[in-house]
Amino acid sequence: MLNQLVIATGNKGKLREIQHILAPLQIKVIPQSSFNVPECEEPFCTFIENALAKARHASQHTGLPALADDSGLCVDALQGAPGVLSARYAGKNSPNSLLTQDERNNDKLLLEMSSISARQAHFYCVMVLVRDAHDPEPLIAEGSWHGTILREYRGTDGFGYDPLFLDDKTGKTVAELPLEIKSRISHRGHAMAKLLQKLERLST
Ligand code: IMP
Repeated sequence: MLNQLVIATGNKGKLREIQHILAPLQIKVIPQSSFNVPECEEPFCTFIENALAKARHASQHTGLPALADDSGLCVDALQGAPGVLSARYAGKNSPNSLLTQDERNNDKLLLEMSSISARQAHFYCVMVLVRDAHDPEPLIAEGSWHGTILREYRGTDGFGYDPLFLDDKTGKTVAELPLEIKSRISHRGHAMAKLLQKLERLST
C-alpha cells in the first residue's frame, strides 16, 4: 500500500472531493501545489491520455506516486461537447473578466442549449495512479454519472457545471448535494472506488 500520494490537479473542487474520499485511508495526500508543479499540457482528445499525462507530469516533478483525474461533461445533443474541453469551454479566462471561468463555461452551455429540448448528459471521469513517472502498469479506473442539463442555475455548492446538472434520482442539482452524497454517486466517486479496489488487490 502507498503511504503518500501527490494529487495532480490545480482544481480546488476536485482536490476537495479526492481528499474527502481518501481521508479514511492511511495515505498522506499532498496537493501538487505544495511542490509548485507547473501546469501540465492537456493536448489530447481523450480523457485517458490527458489523465496519464497529468499523473506522469506530477510524478516526474515530485519523485512521488501521483494520482490524476481527467473529467468533463458530455452532452448528448452536443455530440459529447464540452467533453475534454470542459474546463476551458468558453476559452481561457481573461484577467479582466468579472465572471469566473466556471461561470463563463456555464453561460456558454446555457446559450448553446437554449433551443435544445433533449437535455441528457453525463459526467465522465478517469483516474490514473502512477507509482513513478515511468510506471508501465498505471492503475486506471473510470466512472460516469448520467443526468439532465437544466435551463437555469440551482444551488451554490461544488464547482464547474454542478449548478446546471440535475441528478435524476435525487431530483437535485449537484450544487444542491452535500459532499458526502456527491462523493458516493458521482463519476469521480465511482472511479475512485474502483481505483481503491485495484490498489487494495495489489497490496494483498
Ligand atoms: P480537467 O481539469 O481538464 O479534467 O477538466 C475538468 C472540468 O470538467 C472541470 O473544470 C469542470 O468544468 C468539469 N467537471 C469535471 N468534474 C466535474 C464535477 O464533478 N462537477 C462539475 N464540473 C465538473
